[in-house]
Amino acid sequence: MNTRQQFTSDNYAGMCPEAWQAMMQANVGSLIPYGEDEWTSRAADAFRSLFEKECEVFFVFNGTAANSLALAALCQSYNSVICSSYAHVETDECGAPEFFSNGSKLLVARTESAKLTEQDVRLLSTCRSDIHYPKPRAVTITQPTETGELYSLSEIRTLAQTCRELGLYLHMDGSRFANACAALGCTPADMTWRAGVDVLCFGGTKNGMAVSEAVLFFDRALADGFDYRCKQAGQLASKMRFLSAPWVGMLESGAWLRNARHANTCARRLAEQVVGLPGVSLMFPVQANGVFIHAEADVMERLRACGWRFYTFIGGCARFMFAWDADLAEVDRLAADIQVCSSVH
Ligand SMILES: *Cc1c(COP(=O)(O)O)cnc(C)c1O
Repeated sequence: MNTRQQFTSDNYAGMCPEAWQAMMQANVGSLIPYGEDEWTSRAADAFRSLFEKECEVFFVFNGTAANSLALAALCQSYNSVICSSYAHVETDECGAPEFFSNGSKLLVARTESAKLTEQDVRLLSTCRSDIHYPKPRAVTITQPTETGELYSLSEIRTLAQTCRELGLYLHMDGSRFANACAALGCTPADMTWRAGVDVLCFGGTKNGMAVSEAVLFFDRALADGFDYRCKQAGQLASKMRFLSAPWVGMLESGAWLRNARHANTCARRLAEQVVGLPGVSLMFPVQANGVFIHAEADVMERLRACGWRFYTFIGGCARFMFAWDADLAEVDRLAADIQVCSSVH
């Protein structure tokens, strides 16, 4: 078995001890299926207390389902959803948001980074108002973004205000939500419903669990029928306790935030060691747990020859993502290899 640590993605990691422990504890006894068990209500309550809000909470298997079903809940089939051209819903979900909403179209803003601006939203939502165009109904932002950047609280508030004004819902893809909380040092409530976010998909997988993402509706009326939507989409786990118990472990122990802090620290640590190397630059500011490195193709080639695996799907730069289990010595080894590979001529 190849056990060498790679930073190709934050889903290369296994389960963190807190999630694993809770999974084992949940593996005891016979419990009511389909989410009617104690673990599931305890996990939902843990979210309600973390978010200081009586929100509706659902657990699904992965982020594609969470995003797609949440957006489908906000839209009719003739509606549209505004997103950035970098958005996971646009680039990496195989059309699932359109599929599960029976055709709600994604309206893509050609953004420079993965961040949507108020202007993007205004432009796309007001460019047409005739019957021939799919009527905008929602905006989706990713926090932190696919390019490892953060929306500040005031940017989220501004976007939310614009949404209100234009009759749009605001959805947040938080597949790395914990990393955003850790980086901004703000409460989950401040980052979401207090800022005007209507629905959040909170990622568990990249935060240190095996599987499961939580969908939180801060306006409970929006969750009407969502249970049926999940079931129909094949997202209602019959042994739901195994999706929900790890959340109890993560939230009650504080591991969700510790894991994210550690991952962010690793990204900063790599970034600090490579900025200033000749021919090496950062494509995006390092604000969460990802580092996007721009370098000549031969530098990338040498780095691969050193055994490092990484994606170059965003503008040709090498992406490194850190998870709860990132070993600082390995981060330093990567930094040292980048230094060596970029200094050969
Ligand atoms: C990983 C990720 C998801 C979820 O992806 P799945 O593979 O469907 O779990 C959603 N949004 C973003 C931005 C992601 O990086």
